Amino acid sequence: MRQRVLIAIAIALEPALIIADEPTSALDVVVQRQVIETLARVQRDLGAAVILVGHDMGLMAQFVDRLGIMYAGRLVEVARVSEMVTVPRHPYTRALISSLPSLDRKGGLQGIPGLAPLLRDLPSGCAFNPRCPLAVERCRRETPALRPVGEDAVVACHLAEAAP
Ligand code: SF4
Repeated sequence: MRQRVLIAIAIALEPALIIADEPTSALDVVVQRQVIETLARVQRDLGAAVILVGHDMGLMAQFVDRLGIMYAGRLVEVARVSEMVTVPRHPYTRALISSLPSLDRKGGLQGIPGLAPLLRDLPSGCAFNPRCPLAVERCRRETPALRPVGEDAVVACHLAEAAP
């Protein structure tokens, strides 16, 4: 109910842009869906743009047109949901998707080895390089910039074109 009240306050001025930061945190899955559907209805009624910020990739992917993946405080990939799910280009995006539970996959859950770095002590070059299975020497020297790849995506990885 608190989340709904906050949404009501947020839309009272009919904003053109709504930034919802973890709007479903600490909610069970049924209420999560209701809150997200409320946001979707508000978006339709107001014609507002909505930026959803969250950790539940599956939930986000059901309700947004484009996904942006952040690592160590920076965007590393932005793409349409359908493109990102079928051709994830950044190794971190691929690791995130592989870590999602699936009814088709048997065995234990697959985590991402290592830990996220401290923001005040980032590794040189690409911040993901200590955990990246594809890292090469260049990754430890040069920070990759976001650049267009594929039909409608931007990716910050030196090896983005090598996506399987
Ligand atoms: S730039 Fe290198 S370390 Fe960073 S994600 Fe790409 S391949 Fe991995």
